[in-house]
Amino acid sequence: MFADVSFPISSYKVFTYRIPQEIEPVVLPGVRVRAPLGRRRQVQGVVVHVHPRREFKGKILSISDVVDQTPILDRTLWELLNWVSRYYLTPLGQVMRTAVPSRLTRSYVPTDQLMVQVRTISPEEKFYLGKKAPQQFKAIQFLEKQNRSVPVAELNDRVRSPWAVCRALENKGYVSIHSVPRIPDVSSLSFVPIRKEIKFTTAQQRIIDELVDRLTEKEFVPYLLQGVTGSGKTEIYIDLAKRVAEQGRRSIMLLPEISLTPQFGGRFRAIFGDRVAIWHSRMTPAERAWTWKQICSGAFSVVVGARSAVFTPVGNLGLIVVDEEQESGFKQESPAPRYHARDVALMRGKLSNALTILAGATPSLESYYNRAMGKLNSVRLKVRYGAATYPRVHMVNMMTERDETKNYSTMLSRLLTEKIENRLEKREQIILLQNRRGYSPIVYCGDCGDVEMCRHCNISLTFHKAEHRLKCHYCNFHKSTPQTCEACGSTRLILGGTGTQKVEEGLKDQFPGIRLVRMDLDTTQRSGAYARILEKFGDRAYDVLLGTQMIAKGLDFENVTLVGVISADTGLYLPDFRAGERTFQLVYQVAGRSGRGRKAGEVVIQTNDPENAAIKLAARLDLETYYNICLSERNELMYAPFSWMAKVEFLGRRRGAVEDQAERFSQTLTGKPKHVQMLGPAPCPIERIRGNFRYQIIFKSPKEKDGNGSKLRRFLEQSVVNSRLTGKKKGVEIHVDVDPVSLL
Ligand code: ADP
Ligand code: ZN
Ligand code: ZN
Repeated sequence: MFADVSFPISSYKVFTYRIPQEIEPVVLPGVRVRAPLGRRRQVQGVVVHVHPRREFKGKILSISDVVDQTPILDRTLWELLNWVSRYYLTPLGQVMRTAVPSRLTRSYVPTDQLMVQVRTISPEEKFYLGKKAPQQFKAIQFLEKQNRSVPVAELNDRVRSPWAVCRALENKGYVSIHSVPRIPDVSSLSFVPIRKEIKFTTAQQRIIDELVDRLTEKEFVPYLLQGVTGSGKTEIYIDLAKRVAEQGRRSIMLLPEISLTPQFGGRFRAIFGDRVAIWHSRMTPAERAWTWKQICSGAFSVVVGARSAVFTPVGNLGLIVVDEEQESGFKQESPAPRYHARDVALMRGKLSNALTILAGATPSLESYYNRAMGKLNSVRLKVRYGAATYPRVHMVNMMTERDETKNYSTMLSRLLTEKIENRLEKREQIILLQNRRGYSPIVYCGDCGDVEMCRHCNISLTFHKAEHRLKCHYCNFHKSTPQTCEACGSTRLILGGTGTQKVEEGLKDQFPGIRLVRMDLDTTQRSGAYARILEKFGDRAYDVLLGTQMIAKGLDFENVTLVGVISADTGLYLPDFRAGERTFQLVYQVAGRSGRGRKAGEVVIQTNDPENAAIKLAARLDLETYYNICLSERNELMYAPFSWMAKVEFLGRRRGAVEDQAERFSQTLTGKPKHVQMLGPAPCPIERIRGNFRYQIIFKSPKEKDGNGSKLRRFLEQSVVNSRLTGKKKGVEIHVDVDPVSLL
């Protein structure tokens, strides 16, 4: 027998090997094996096909050994990975490397965790403890309040040497200690189970009834659930997942960035307990391996995770939810496969006959369009749960504001200032958005205009005040802030633009004593920081939460009655066809933050361009009008969703070589279907990142000519294979990105 094996290398070829007789029974598709490849002796690959006759004429080597006793994927998942490989033009071995943990064979057993719980203790005994053993007394007091079994480690902040204290208490018979396996989790997620009584509203119930009906069909049905933030979408997912579990099937919940939704997991934990698995990129390889195997064995009813959770080996799948489906976090930019988890989820739903729900407050333009075309079924939740009403939105034209106040560097308009004062007085809370971190995003010379640029990227350096350094936000290059201009020696260096740090400083100057917390990449590096900030803000330890787009979604604070957007235009003028859509979604979402509770909310949006459609219509919460404008623009320019798009990117250290390669590639293209448009080759808008020069070619294939995009893909596959085989320049990489999300 012979086996075709795919390796995690950037070649599309599979290699044929002889299967030694003694391992023949276990060499099946989906099993990993080791085999000699090129000059390397042993490389791990996956068997993709087993056949009795050799098709390959040359010298044939033998498989050395088998890694897995049984396939690590079932047939559906296997088919899915093959589809990803074909659709995203990525060798199967490379797809496997992204999808499957590398070290599945390592035996990993989760460590045990010691739990402690109060048994009995009389008031007299407690009184005595208080006198004689203050640490034990403190521990007992805490445990009594908890009224559940608590990890011993949780006593760490409360008593000295908690372990010894608990043992002493156990010896006296006051507590019991037992151990349970520790399921890998994200420490930064607060998994405090949040349980509450839910009585669905009529609108919610109607949606549940419809979806439950579809569940019983056990067929692939794709839905777009459009529901404003706070309308109860998550409660609906939980309810559906319960029904799916009752059918003996399982669910996958995909979130754009799992660490950004600490409350989500807790809500599932409250219902499903240990039958919820968490899947995310911060797990160690061993934890991943263990979780993968547990999922294979069917131990979990629900898997909650970030984009790669779409590949977890959940058998008997009944439901997939993609929450906040418009988020770009679902797209993997690098390495290949450059897949979009939303689209993979749809394919997985189809292969598994599962109900597949794309959800969000602001659908992606693609999904909006697909619904209009009847490819997605539609359910909507138009109102928020509870007494909350829509906020009142005010727009401030900052150009006029600056003219009228003669203050040309002002960050806060008079209106926003007044509203902040008012909320501070009333002890209500405020969320402020400035979608740019650091102090000032551009530092330039007041005499010659020279801009401080990154040495490795075509990006201006951002001034960070605390460290007094200039940093590149693309490659982490940083340097101390110079005293003088490097070009002309002038000392007039100007800090231009506005980042979160500058806003923070301005607010603290203007409102002495203000309790403000800043949330951006710089303040959330440490694990758990994100959840901690939110928890404290929820406990009203701060008046103001100021941050980048991180603060815009998923949060639920009823005491927030004012939301301010410092400058809505940030990002609007990026040379990318999705810039407008993104700005709209951000402003629209953040506007929905205010007034979630009983108190009415207000939103102040500051902009230099109040007539811009994205901003104007987001402020009016008028999604339909904006999306229709967007669609007609895209239609005119033949952009997605009216065409299939692909980007071929060339990158390398030497500009000349990169340019040559891009040129050569475009000239040697053969068999380009006539209807396929080609833009470029041209330098990418950000021409250099991390020292690599970048060129790109964009391909567009109108859907009316190329229904499922297969013509474009076939042509590209051929071209890329060609260029890899012939005349690929040394030191130039070629990346193919099907359905690119960013064209920067
Ligand atoms: P979304 O996911 O759409 O943002 P959530 O499911 O998080 O909305 O709901 C917002 C808040 O309202 C949550 O605290 C949720 O528990 C609560 N909620 C929603 N629907 C109900 C209901 N029918 N009964 C009780 N609480 C509800
Ligand atoms: Zn200068
Ligand atoms: Zn850089």
